Amino acid sequence: MRPDLARFAINQITTPNWTMAQAIEGYAAQGVGGIACWRSYLDEYGVERTARHLRDAGLWVASLCTSAWLNAATEADFDAAIEQNRRILDNAAAIGAPCVVMVVGGLPPGSKDIAGQRARVRDALHTLAPHARSVGVKLGLEPLHPMYAGDRSVLNSITVANDLCDELGDAAGLVPDVYHCWWDPAFESELRRAGPERILTFHYCDWLVPTRNLRDRGMVGDGVADIARIRGWLDEIGYSGVFELEIFSELDWWTRPGDETVRIGIERCTPYVGALGDTAKDQA
Ligand code: ZN
Repeated sequence: MRPDLARFAINQITTPNWTMAQAIEGYAAQGVGGIACWRSYLDEYGVERTARHLRDAGLWVASLCTSAWLNAATEADFDAAIEQNRRILDNAAAIGAPCVVMVVGGLPPGSKDIAGQRARVRDALHTLAPHARSVGVKLGLEPLHPMYAGDRSVLNSITVANDLCDELGDAAGLVPDVYHCWWDPAFESELRRAGPERILTFHYCDWLVPTRNLRDRGMVGDGVADIARIRGWLDEIGYSGVFELEIFSELDWWTRPGDETVRIGIERCTPYVGALGDTAKDQA
């Protein structure tokens, strides 16, 4: 591990053409400290095998992505999704992931009741909280940009995520993402409200202008998000946790060789992932 990348993980959706084994090897080879794992790759490679490979490669785990959606049409299917999320929390514990990133699903099929679905998600989080506590894995609430409210997540603002964290106590925390939150006038104040302990991991990427489709996130530095300023806020509140590079990019980064995406991702993120207190020094 490169010492200056000790806080830095790559979220494996950034290199979707790599298997779990290839991602572990590929990130470790370039000195990255950690990885955020995705369930599909974990299921394919196996939980035990992944845990062993991570240990052998010396990578820590930032998070397990993502929860099962909670937008089932029937109560039976909803209960099954709750149970599936308990198993996902178990798997997170097994690979040493401190949190499961909760992408809670959009509207149930045929529904126009977003308020009702948000209430249902809130209940589900309370239902999951005891299990999360019992296995020592937090529910990582990641507010998604409102353009995903219909199909991916009805949890859309960092303010609401903080409100839910207030209710859920130590069973939950925040997973703020530059792509989802950069536009929000409350982004800075809600990070300050959260404080350093509640932020479980922090997602880096950028907002491209124009944005061409729903999977068109930019590499850090290629868009309009002020990453240096955002990192400055995190330093001011004393955040000493981890950062992930997480890029969904059908038209660009997903088409490149993984090694190239990792290399450029490291170059772009290095100024923003150093130790707490280093940023001001770098900019001086
Ligand atoms: Zn994210």
